[in-house]
Amino acid sequence: MTNMDMIENAMLHVLPLLPYAANALAPVISASTIGFHYGKHHKGYVDTLNKLIAGTELAELSLEKLIAETAGKSDQAAIFNNAAQIWNHTFYWRSLRAQGGAMPPAKLQQKIDAAFGNLEVCKKELSTAAMAQFGSGWVWLVLEGDKLKVVKTGNAETPLSQGVKPLLTIDVWEHAYYLDYQNSRADYVNAVLDKLINWDFAAANLG
Ligand code: MN
Repeated sequence: MTNMDMIENAMLHVLPLLPYAANALAPVISASTIGFHYGKHHKGYVDTLNKLIAGTELAELSLEKLIAETAGKSDQAAIFNNAAQIWNHTFYWRSLRAQGGAMPPAKLQQKIDAAFGNLEVCKKELSTAAMAQFGSGWVWLVLEGDKLKVVKTGNAETPLSQGVKPLLTIDVWEHAYYLDYQNSRADYVNAVLDKLINWDFAAANLG
């Protein structure tokens, strides 16, 4: 492999821009947490993936196709983990916004009422799932068929490869909250749900 090939392959996947400034979510999520989480962790997955797939057939695939292609294959776990973590984090940043929380748009609110009874129960299910996730992972609001559902995934696992449509996610890896909340995952998740969650993004994902 020539240096030029290496450079071209290393350009394949890029770190998407944050949809807001690093301090936009403070004080719920500090600029310091975003600096490490986006600038080190998310970027690290991009850099590692580009190295892992350089010069292979997988370098031709979009991120979504790469995730589908490597899901469940133990000999490609490192590639899947880094690819899925890139996708999950990009989706997580968009699931949050400054001055979030409040009320979902009507078309999402109707589905929330149908599935959970009301918004508070939906938030409680998200929070309970986040606390029940042992170790690192993610909690998601997804659309399964025509019905909303809360699911959790471990480590890099993503509902993308599980036949449901993700609407929003909260990262519950310790790196998402430890600088701001230390061991209190519940305080982080509840603050995110009350003050940052981007219901408009979730509603847009209904399609
Ligand atoms: Mn993370």
